[in-house]
Amino acid sequence: MAHIVIRGLDKYFGSTRVLQDVSLEIAEKEFVTLLGPSGCGKTTTLRLLAGFLEPDGGEIRVGGEVLSAPGATVPPERRRMGMVFQSYAVWPHMTVAENVAFGLRLARLDRREIDTRVARVLAAVGLDGMEGRHPGQLSGGQQQRVALARSLVVEPSILLLDEPLSNLDAKLRERMRVELKALQRRTGITFVYVTHDQAEAMALSDRIAVFHAGRVQQYGPPREIYERPANLFVADFMGLVNKLPARRVGPGRYQLAGGEELTTVVNDGDAGLAEAVIAIRPEAIRLAPLDDGEACNRLPGRIAEATFLGNLIDCQVEAAGSLLRVQAERRMLLEPGQPVDLEIPVRECVAMRPEAS
Ligand code: ATP
Repeated sequence: MAHIVIRGLDKYFGSTRVLQDVSLEIAEKEFVTLLGPSGCGKTTTLRLLAGFLEPDGGEIRVGGEVLSAPGATVPPERRRMGMVFQSYAVWPHMTVAENVAFGLRLARLDRREIDTRVARVLAAVGLDGMEGRHPGQLSGGQQQRVALARSLVVEPSILLLDEPLSNLDAKLRERMRVELKALQRRTGITFVYVTHDQAEAMALSDRIAVFHAGRVQQYGPPREIYERPANLFVADFMGLVNKLPARRVGPGRYQLAGGEELTTVVNDGDAGLAEAVIAIRPEAIRLAPLDDGEACNRLPGRIAEATFLGNLIDCQVEAAGSLLRVQAERRMLLEPGQPVDLEIPVRECVAMRPEAS
């Protein structure tokens, strides 16, 4: 049973509190990503999970058993967890097969069993046929697969991965993403993955925990985190967002700087805020009226800039006393100065607590 329960985790380095009251539940076979900017505490959380660090408060349970608590931490080798790092750390003097077999040799499995398992896992990561090569004869992506295979071959119930794709070029990273996800589904291993790349997190995860300053800001499925961020930090971190200061004039109704009003949705904790920021994703704003019956806000605007980006046109539009970022369909012909109508569905306008300055 690899159901992970992290409750109230605190960690200090010296007098600096790097994790504050971190709580997360991770279901068996789930792919969970710890996401956040550099220094937010995601690697520390992973190292606590692995047993390399001991918490100063709170606990980690796996399958009901306490593995980490102050003064009572089970060592890494007794956790049935595998770990994959950013630096592949494969042994250069050993062949691919020897690298992968190493953990099984240590565990003194018999030779036939080792050979079978090594062959199976190399096929799973797409390295069959390369058993006899040395790491120096492999690309970065292939070396990272050796590292993955080495962790998978010992059949961990949980695999912890710390930015495993960040040394690969953009194209290979995308391909490895698809392969990692497929591998996770096929093996049924619980993956806990650390990255600062929001696109990677969205592509891979069943759920994402967004970290900032040692705290979990939001924990949920990618779509929920992107479309209904809990606060402005999450809204900003997950992608481009327009942030319009506004004043409340009624339930869910807010007046913008230019005097226009918007109907919005409001997060539970933010209902009734007198001053709010309305967060709107650029691609949620339509430039031409669409008569599909969805409840929409309408704002008149004028194109300030339109940049063709291939799959879309990235626009700056003057409207409501602000400059709005809008992503328009690539087939539209848009010129600076052109008047346009903006249509914004109500459920895409999220009224939020302004950030403390
Ligand atoms: P990155 O993406 O840069 O690895 P992160 O979110 O994984 O960032 P952590 O490595 O968890 O961040 O670090 C959280 C904070 O704790 C940082 O401010 C870091 O400087 C500090 N820290 C990490 N390890 C130690 C340590 N061994 N001693 C002192 N401070 C540490």
